[in-house]
Amino acid sequence: MKCEKCHRDLYICQICKGNQGSLSCSNCKNSGMVCPEHGGYWRR
Ligand SMILES: [Zn+2]
Ligand SMILES: [Zn+2]
Repeated sequence: MKCEKCHRDLYICQICKGNQGSLSCSNCKNSGMVCPEHGGYWRR
């Protein structure tokens, strides 16, 4: 998956490990993926 803003490859959020389970994660905005440039705000 890639960032919708800058098209960099996303990496799995290390805080929630890909948002498994139901915990709320502010690092990736519950998407489970993080952009190195935009963090959890990689969606348009
Ligand atoms: Zn990005
Ligand atoms: Zn996360």
